[in-house]
Amino acid sequence: MASNKVVGILGGGQLGRMLAASASLLNIPVIILDGGPNTPAKQILASPYHTHIDGSFSDPIKIKELAAKVDVLTVEIEHVDVNALDEVESTFKNVQIHPAPGTIRIIQDKYSQKEHLARNNLPVSDFISVESSVEGISSAAATLGLPLMLKSRTLAYDGRGNYVLRDLAQSHDALAALGGRPLYAEKWVPFTQEIAVMVVRTTTGEVSSYPVVETVHKDNICHLVFAPLRTRDPGLIKRAQGIAEAAVQSLSGAGVFGVEMFLMENGTVYINEIAPRPHNSGHYTIEACETSQYENHLRAILSLPLGSTALKVPSAAMLNLIGASTSLSEIQQTTSVALSLPGTSVHLYGKSECRKGRKMGHITITAPNDAELRARLRPLLESLPNSTA
Ligand code: ATP
Ligand code: MG
Ligand code: MG
Repeated sequence: MASNKVVGILGGGQLGRMLAASASLLNIPVIILDGGPNTPAKQILASPYHTHIDGSFSDPIKIKELAAKVDVLTVEIEHVDVNALDEVESTFKNVQIHPAPGTIRIIQDKYSQKEHLARNNLPVSDFISVESSVEGISSAAATLGLPLMLKSRTLAYDGRGNYVLRDLAQSHDALAALGGRPLYAEKWVPFTQEIAVMVVRTTTGEVSSYPVVETVHKDNICHLVFAPLRTRDPGLIKRAQGIAEAAVQSLSGAGVFGVEMFLMENGTVYINEIAPRPHNSGHYTIEACETSQYENHLRAILSLPLGSTALKVPSAAMLNLIGASTSLSEIQQTTSVALSLPGTSVHLYGKSECRKGRKMGHITITAPNDAELRARLRPLLESLPNSTA
């Protein structure tokens, strides 16, 4: 056994499922806390090592019930009850929490996250807090211009919580769409590419970066990831990794962090946001890197030696399988194409209901070169609904 410490994970979605799968290879016992009856992670917790607690990751009583059974607590989602984690930290002296509750608190409010980054001299584009009213929105637009990216400060994921305001006449619509939640606004960033870096940090504070990847979003949801990022700018890779590492150094606690960034025409890099956990842009590491983000997250929080973050294939991509409707048939179609191609690995998350915009699985493609990667990717893209590939 790599470690006899028990790991508790708040959240049992696909990230929890892949963390648990990785833990099982090292015989690391895992207990998952999630409210759903048959969530992706619970489905694979069949060994005596692994178990789960039924309950919400935002329920303080359930969080304490989990804490009483584990040595290390971690999260696969940032929308957890941080006050409960603070209490665990002060009452369960033998339980370590990674990343630190304070880190999760800063990150789960996207406005306070941006303030934190700006305070630490990390590059972010202009942003301001916005009162949730038509007047509040028009005053933000007067300061930052149009289009304006309105964002919900809390509970955001997959772009749910974002509204692109192109005209002040849309203000009512924006308020209705964002459901009266606390808001802030970001200046529109005319990026040329979106990039991301996974950074892993040990309990003693050392950081190590995975390769810089290109992320392609469609309707605000991550659609494709290409690893490594191809660029003619010789300094870009080190620059982006340096910014991502500095951002992670500004926060406390161990584990992997996903740093999403915008790349501008002139080579400037801005941080979009940070995830304090394994991240969609790091799924490719399972097949394409020496050590996956999931395994390195576990190694980091358990104070085990980190594994290499290097790529072990010349070229890789990740395609998210996103629900097109309530039917699984579109996902099945792309899956069957993938099964007939070389170099592809299909990951299905076991979600019982398919919905438009829901992440149902992903496919990793690896290849000996970029041309072969594109050739393998093409039939997958062509199989997607409304494909224009
Ligand atoms: P995630 O699932 O990554 O947590 P999220 O709901 O937190 O998503 P963001 O990452 O804030 O949403 O935004 C989603 C996408 O919207 C970005 O990846 C980018 O494509 C676009 N976007 C976000 N902020 C801006 C901006 N200020 N200007 C232009 N485009 C933006
Ligand atoms: Mg986010
Ligand atoms: Mg994002």
